[in-house]
Amino acid sequence: MRKDRDGQPAFDTEVINAIRQEEAGTIQGAKLIQAGELVAFPTETVYGLGADGLNGEAVAKIFAAKGRPADNPLILHIAKKSDVRRLWSRIPKQASILMDTFWPGPLTLVAPKSDLIPDEVTAGLDTVAVRLPQNKTARALIAKAGVPIAAPSANRSGRPSPTTAQHVLDDLGGRIPLILDGGSCHYGVESTVLSLVSEPTILRPGAITREMLSALIGEVRVSASILSPMKEDEIAASPGMKYQHYAPLAEVVVVLGAPQQAAKRINALYRAAEAEERSVEIAATEQTKQFYRGMRHIVLGDRNAPETLCANLFSALREMDSRAELILAEGIAAEDEGLAYMNRLLRAAGFVVIDASKE
Ligand code: AMP
Ligand code: MG
Repeated sequence: MRKDRDGQPAFDTEVINAIRQEEAGTIQGAKLIQAGELVAFPTETVYGLGADGLNGEAVAKIFAAKGRPADNPLILHIAKKSDVRRLWSRIPKQASILMDTFWPGPLTLVAPKSDLIPDEVTAGLDTVAVRLPQNKTARALIAKAGVPIAAPSANRSGRPSPTTAQHVLDDLGGRIPLILDGGSCHYGVESTVLSLVSEPTILRPGAITREMLSALIGEVRVSASILSPMKEDEIAASPGMKYQHYAPLAEVVVVLGAPQQAAKRINALYRAAEAEERSVEIAATEQTKQFYRGMRHIVLGDRNAPETLCANLFSALREMDSRAELILAEGIAAEDEGLAYMNRLLRAAGFVVIDASKE
C-alpha cells in the first residue's frame, strides 16, 4: 500500500457522477465498503465519509483520514427503518413516532446501543446515533453494502463541512479511494441530533427544529453547548461540541443586531480592515445587500427563511476563505432553522461576536 507524507494510505481518488451513473457508482461503492474501505457519498445534509459500521478496523480509517479525535462518536446510517432494531438495545418510547414522521430525513436519534456496535463507532459510549437518510444515492449505497454505514461529515476535522463533491476532493483527495458525486446537498447543515437516552435533548440543531419535535413529543431540551462553548460536564452528552468546528483559516466575526444596524457596523469594520490592508469579505443577506455596494460580499439567503442561509453557509465560508483574511457575518435570531445556522456560525467564528444593537 502506498503512503503519503503523513503515513496515511495514498489513493488516486476516483469521482463518479452518481446522478448519471447511480447504479454503477453505488455498486462500486458497496464493494469498497464491504472490503473495509472508505467511500464519500452525498446526503441531503452534507457529504458523508462512510465505512462498514460493524467493522471496527474499517471505522478506524475514518478517524485517520479526517484527523478526527478518537473520542468523537459517529452516526450509523441505515437503509430502512427496521434496521434500527438490531443497533439499539431498546427502542425509546418517543422513537417510533419520530421515525414515522421524520425518517427518511435529517434527524439523528441517540439511544442505548446493542452489542453489535464496535467501540470505534461510539467512542466507547454505551449509546449509538442512528439516521435514515433521504438521499437516493445514500440509500442505494447502504442497501447494496448490506450493513449500516458509519459516517461523519467528509471534511478534514475542524474544517467547514462539505456540501459538494469538490469540497470533499479538496479535503480528502488522495486519502480515500472513491467519492460519489450527487451534486449540491439540499439542507447544507448536518442532521439534528436528538438524544432519547433520558429527557429528549437536542445535542446538535439542524433542519428538523426544536419547534417541529416538541409539537410531536412535548418538551424538548436544547443542550447548553449549542450556542456557547462547551463546559466540562457536558462532554459526555455531546462529544462533538467540544472541538473547534467548521472553521475557515480566515478570522470570522459575527455581528448581531437588526439588519440595518448590523450592516452599519459591518461597513465600519470593513473600512477599518481595508485601512489595515487586510482582505475582507461579508456574508450578507437579501435584506442587507443594498448596504454593501462596492464591497466584497456573498448573499447567503433571506434572513426570514434561515434554511436558505443554512444551505449556503459552508460553501460560502470555503469560498470566502480562499480570498479573505477576515470574514464579517450577520447573526440572526436563534430560533427555528436559525438555531442551526447560529450554532454553526458561532463555532466557525470561535464565538467572536459583536452586538451592533448595543451603543
Ligand atoms: P459529524 O456529523 O461529522 O460531526 O459527527 C456526528 C455527530 O454526532 C457528532 O457531533 C457527535 O458528537 C454526535 N454523536 C454521534 N454519536 C453520538 C452519541 N452516541 N451520543 C451523542 N452524540 C453523538
Ligand atoms: Mg462533522
